[in-house]
Amino acid sequence: MTSLAHFEAIAGSMNLPGKAIINGKAAAARSGKTFDNITPRNGQVINAVAECDAADIEDAVAAARTAFDTGSWRKLSYGRKKKLMFALADLMEKHAEKFAVLESLDVGKPIDNALKADIPGSIKTLRYYAEALDKVYGEVGPETNDRMSFAVHEPLGVIGIIVPWNFPLLMTMWKVAPAIAMGNSVVIKPAEQSPLTALFLGELALEAGFPPGVINVVPGFGATAGKALALHNDVDMIAFTGSGNVGKLLMQYSGQSNLKRVSLELGGKSPQIVFADCPDVRAAAEHAAWGIFYNQGEVCTAGSRLLVDETIADAFTESLLDVAKKIVPGDPLEPKTNFGAMVSAEQMNTALRYIDTAKREGAKLCLGGHRTRVDSGGFYVEPTVFGGVKPDATLSREEVFGPVLAITKFKTPEEALRLANDTVYGLAAGLWTKDISLAHRAARELRAGLVWVNGWDSCDITIPFGGFKQSGFGRDRSLHALHKYADLKSISITLR
Ligand code: NAD
Repeated sequence: MTSLAHFEAIAGSMNLPGKAIINGKAAAARSGKTFDNITPRNGQVINAVAECDAADIEDAVAAARTAFDTGSWRKLSYGRKKKLMFALADLMEKHAEKFAVLESLDVGKPIDNALKADIPGSIKTLRYYAEALDKVYGEVGPETNDRMSFAVHEPLGVIGIIVPWNFPLLMTMWKVAPAIAMGNSVVIKPAEQSPLTALFLGELALEAGFPPGVINVVPGFGATAGKALALHNDVDMIAFTGSGNVGKLLMQYSGQSNLKRVSLELGGKSPQIVFADCPDVRAAAEHAAWGIFYNQGEVCTAGSRLLVDETIADAFTESLLDVAKKIVPGDPLEPKTNFGAMVSAEQMNTALRYIDTAKREGAKLCLGGHRTRVDSGGFYVEPTVFGGVKPDATLSREEVFGPVLAITKFKTPEEALRLANDTVYGLAAGLWTKDISLAHRAARELRAGLVWVNGWDSCDITIPFGGFKQSGFGRDRSLHALHKYADLKSISITLR
């Protein structure tokens, strides 16, 4: 059944979600405005989505606040909260193919990736935090004769969740699940390029029986809806994934309003280091290729800088190109496609501009470099590899957020580590070596929140995710994420 026709039929049969979910109801924007939602698959408008702004944010925050203050969710028993979260996960599973089609249409992601990674990953995340919510313990202070003290975790209140378009549902769920597990209410502002799965999630949350106002979804643009949410005095925290520029604005908005907490998952320019004693060149080449080309390179942890020991650089590059040549852009809804469209014309043009800059700055184009599938009307860029990229070149320093790999040679492990750390970012890093001491030393030296040895992106919901330096602060995933959405309250009882 898994054919292009099958997924096109699902798309054709669905009423694509376009209304906000505020206070337990689907709603048009107060202004009545909508915006065109374009699929990068073929550049066509697929539906009209409510263009919410400050007025709708006002409604959603008020609903979230009321839900929090009345305790309609916060005060439910652990068992009841779990039951609702599991009910939502079950509904998501029931509609997994629909979610995958929505995600693929909205952002150009291969349907196979959505079916195997994004959607099951989101469901797993929801279940993980549902299971965890009654395993968060407070602390009892040291005993004294006349006082008993303890610290408890209190939910923060209203959490504004602002997410990007590259893994729309997964990024949303990494924040929604731990936030509600701790008893908070949420207002989700999906990216304007990818509102569909968040809106569908909001619809299903109502079907699952979540009380009104606990999970609100407000689609709209960053400069209007997003800014209004981040400036709102009744929002206790903004949990954000997106670009560094917007991350910096969010901290300003916090200072201009109520000093709300801000957690930031931002961009990267992540290095993959291949030392001379790489244990398996073919496997490393596969990981290096997919480390940059997965999801069309639109991945915050994309391994966009490949640093290779000069003694094996030529053989390694050949092996990598051999893998990369077989990665051919295709229709995202076709199940065999493993490399789809870029999210928008704007993002495609950004990638093409970086390719031009790399050529101008003297890097050697080894593969790709062009827009492709132009007749489809969609936004497709070939997997692109540049060799001989200088450490100070634009391609070594700036995040492309597209399928463009920069290869740089090094002479010694010390030089490799220096180059790897020579970036304002610090999200992920990888290294390949047989030498266990070098692996340990290098893993500790690398200034990155995630380090992978002899693999790439080899971790899951159980392991914290987040960056150092300008890749942000705060962690998604794992039990640590729960504490991000809570404050410690210290209670002392005088014993008389
Ligand atoms: P973006 O920062 O442009 O947009 C992200 C979100 O912020 C969108 O919902 C947008 O509407 C909103 N926004 C924009 N301007 C705003 C404003 N003034 N106030 C409030 N909200 C505003 O990022 P993008 O282009 O959607 O995503 C790409 C970026 O996200 C890349 O830098 C990428 O590395 C990063 N990213 C990071 C992670 C991570 O976990 N570290 C994961 C995915 C993407």
